[in-house]
Amino acid sequence: MQTMPIIRKDDFPILQKVIYGKYPLVYLDNAATTQKPRQVVEAMTEEYYNVNANVHRGVHFLSQQATELHEASRETVRRFLNARSTSEIVFTRGTTESINLVASCFGQAFMKEGDEVILSEMEHHSNIVSWQLLQARKGIRLRIVPITDDGQLKMEEYEKFFNERTRIVSITHVSNVLGTVNPVKDIIRIAHEHSVPVLIDGAQSTPHMTVDVQGLDCDFFAFSGHKIYGPTGIGVLYGKEEWLERIPPYMGGGEMIKSVSFEKTTFNELPYKFEAGTPDYIASTGLAKALDYVTSIGFDAIEAHEKDLTSYALQRLMEVEGMKIYGPHDQKTAAVISFQVGNIHHLDMGTLLDRLGIAVRTGHHCAEPLMRRLGIEGTCRASFALYNTREDIDALVEGIQRIKKMF
Ligand code: PMP
Repeated sequence: MQTMPIIRKDDFPILQKVIYGKYPLVYLDNAATTQKPRQVVEAMTEEYYNVNANVHRGVHFLSQQATELHEASRETVRRFLNARSTSEIVFTRGTTESINLVASCFGQAFMKEGDEVILSEMEHHSNIVSWQLLQARKGIRLRIVPITDDGQLKMEEYEKFFNERTRIVSITHVSNVLGTVNPVKDIIRIAHEHSVPVLIDGAQSTPHMTVDVQGLDCDFFAFSGHKIYGPTGIGVLYGKEEWLERIPPYMGGGEMIKSVSFEKTTFNELPYKFEAGTPDYIASTGLAKALDYVTSIGFDAIEAHEKDLTSYALQRLMEVEGMKIYGPHDQKTAAVISFQVGNIHHLDMGTLLDRLGIAVRTGHHCAEPLMRRLGIEGTCRASFALYNTREDIDALVEGIQRIKKMF
């Protein structure tokens, strides 16, 4: 059975590209970054051509128009996450910056030597190294929740980690390597039973499922625009107002101040307290367009389509002799499949697939501790988006079969 993509591939000009004489491009590297629809690129170009002026400070027409657009984008993000107020939506450069902000500012306000943060074995480097920097500054302790052999968090171990030194939990919603969807609602509920706040890394969940920060009751939530069909260089930190009020600013500069003197500086209200310097107001427009694009298709349709692709891919990949798939092999997987074929090196596999016009990612996927846990150096990773089709997966499997014959 062939499926139709749920949106027109020609919304995405790059997918029409011929690479090494192969057409159409089979782009299966969406967990690294997604392609951008025309609607996003055109809105940004339009703003540069017709509106561009620095936001917030100007009394003139263009500055006010740019400010309105930027703040309207913040409202779009608020709606997308179902946050209570736009005061809780901080624009950052992406998930990495959002996590660093929390580690640095929450760490400064609430953590001292010997205090603990709970992470997991499947975290991206962003959600490990940010805490290690705090560890170097303050001597905090990292507690790491282990995973099962099929890539699920050991929840009974997680519960045991809480003690009087636990200050925060920081865990990914969806693994960028295994596709595991973590039970974040339970993770948050358990942490709150111990009066411990939770930061969720939503880099890999926001493109694939509805996120409701009030429903989850998370204290912080981070995501990146470029992984959800938006531009690079912009992301979001959601934080509950009561936490954002209580933690100090991240960077100093323009925008984040109320008044400055050499004796005493006071800080701006939320969310501007965390937005030093000229914000990327063009990218915020692009991000809002991307969120509108996704919302207009709807997550019911996106999830159904991507679940179909993922289970079809799991079934077809398992036909390949010597195939090893890491992580859960079922519907719990969110549009990401990491695999290894016999003893063909993942780099060889990725390079040869590329020559066939199929883009996958190879390597450790910024999760070296997870690779160590799995006892491997790297994998090949295929990750899906709303524009992928079953034909893309057939091409991947045929490509793998051809490459296998060469070895
Ligand atoms: N966390 C996860 C789970 C990710 O997949 C990524 C991106 N690969 C990041 C964090 C970092 O995102 P960014 O590079 O956009 O800041």
